[in-house]
Amino acid sequence: MKSIAIVGAGQSGLQLALALQDRGYEVTVISNRTAEQIRAGKVMSSQCMFGASLQTERELGLNSWDQDCPPIEGFGITVANLEQPATPLIDWVAPLNVHAQSVDQRLKMPAWMDEFERRGGQLVIKDAGVDELEELSLCHDLVVVAAGKGDIVKLFERDATRSVFDCPQRALALTYVTGTVPRSPLPGVTFNVIPGIGEWVMFPGLTTSGPCEIMSFFGIPGGPLDCWADVKTPEQHLEKSLSILETYLPWGAERCRDAQLTDDNGILSGRLAPTVRKPVVRLPSGRFVLGMADVVVVNDPINGQGSNNAAKCAMSYLQSILELENRQPTPEWMQQAFERFWSYAEYVVTWTSAMLRPPEPHILNLLGVAGQVPAIARATVNGFDHPPSLFPWWTDAKECNRFIERHTSEEVLAPH
Ligand SMILES: Cc1cc2nc3c(=O)[nH]c(=O)nc-3n(C[C@H](O)[C@H](O)[C@H](O)COP(=O)(O)OP(=O)(O)OC[C@H]3O[C@@H](n4cnc5c(N)ncnc54)[C@H](O)[C@@H]3O)c2cc1C
Repeated sequence: MKSIAIVGAGQSGLQLALALQDRGYEVTVISNRTAEQIRAGKVMSSQCMFGASLQTERELGLNSWDQDCPPIEGFGITVANLEQPATPLIDWVAPLNVHAQSVDQRLKMPAWMDEFERRGGQLVIKDAGVDELEELSLCHDLVVVAAGKGDIVKLFERDATRSVFDCPQRALALTYVTGTVPRSPLPGVTFNVIPGIGEWVMFPGLTTSGPCEIMSFFGIPGGPLDCWADVKTPEQHLEKSLSILETYLPWGAERCRDAQLTDDNGILSGRLAPTVRKPVVRLPSGRFVLGMADVVVVNDPINGQGSNNAAKCAMSYLQSILELENRQPTPEWMQQAFERFWSYAEYVVTWTSAMLRPPEPHILNLLGVAGQVPAIARATVNGFDHPPSLFPWWTDAKECNRFIERHTSEEVLAPH
C-alpha cells in the first residue's frame, strides 16, 4: 500500500497524514475549509490533551506550542452545594503525572496543514461526498474518513450494540476568556459538578491571541444550564456564562470577575449524541472506505477525550497500516484496524457514559475519600490520560471499595 487519501483536516486526519508522510507514503488530505478559514473561524473544541496524547504529537515533531501554551499541571474536582453555595460538598486538587495542554484547534490545524504541504503532501479543498469518495478510492490504495461531525459521517451506520445513548446528554457551550485569576495551587483544570444541573469546567489554553482560559458548560437537557438557545451575541454569551457562575459557583465567579472574551469567535454552543458507528462503508462501486476518530466513536466532551482519542486513533491506524506492508487493505483488515482502536476506546465510552448519568454511590464515596487520600485523587485525575486505568473500579462498586481500602491503608501506613 503506497497511497492514502484522508478526508478531514482535523486532529486525527492531519496527525495520521503527517505520520504517514514521515514513513514515505503518498498522502492526499481533503478539507472542506482552508487553513485561513479555520484560523478565522469559530472555536471548535476546548481540546484539552493529556500526556500520552501529547507524546504522540511530540514523537512526530508536531509540538510547536510547548513553550507558549500554559501547562495544565493539576486537576481539581469540586461538587457544588446547592443549599449553601459558598461551601462545596467536595473540593480537592491533585497533580497530573504529566502536564496536559490545550492549543486552540484554530492555531494547530492551520499550522499542521501548512506543514503537511511543506513536506510535499497534497491538500485539496473540497467538501467531499460520495462522488469524491468514489474518485479517491479509484486512485488511492486506502481512503480514510476523518471528517469529525461532518454530514458525510451519516454514511456510517450507527452501531446500536455499542452505542450507549441515542440522543444528546448535555447542552454544550464554550467561552474563551482572558482576565481570569489562575487556579492556585497547581494551575490547571477545575472540574465542577452542579448536582442535577450539569458541570462547569475551566482550564488554561493557548488561543490565536495568546494565553487564555477556556470555560466549558455542560447542561442536563431541559435544566437551567440548557440555556443557550436565546443567546444571540458574543456579549450575551459571556454574560450568560458569568451569570451561571454567580448563581451556582461563587468561587468560579470570583476568579472570572474581570473576564473578557478572547474574540467574538471564542464562543460555541450546541449538543451532540454520543454514538459509536460501524467503521467500514461500502460505496456504490463496491469499494470500501474506513472511518476514524469522531466519525466512528463520538463521545460527549464532558471528560475531554475526543482529541485524545483522535490522536490515539491516528497512531493505532498508523500501526495497522504499517503492518499491512505491501498488501492491499480489505474490508476485514479495516474492521480489524478499528477493533484494535476500540480495545482502548470502549473504556472511554463506558467511563464517559457513566459520567453523564447521575453518579453511583460508590463514585460519590470515592470522590469524597479522594479529598483525604491523595493517592486516590491522583489515580482519579490521571485516569483522564489513560481511561482504562480507571477500571474495573469505576464501574464496579465492590472493586471500588477494595481500591479505596487498599489506598487508605497504604496512606495510613506510609511515613509522613
Ligand atoms: C464543546 C466541545 C469541547 C471539547 N473539548 C475537548 C477537550 O477538552 N478534550 C478533548 O480531547 N476533546 C474535546 N472535544 C472533542 C474534540 O474536539 C474532537 O473529538 C476532535 O477534534 C475530533 O477529531 P477528529 O479528527 O475526529 O475530527 P475534527 O477535529 O472535527 O476534524 C474533522 C475535520 O473534517 C472536516 N470535514 C468535515 N466534513 C468534511 C467533508 N465532507 N469533506 C472534507 N472535510 C470535511 C471538518 O471541517 C474538520 O476540519 C470537544 C468537543 C466539543 C464539541
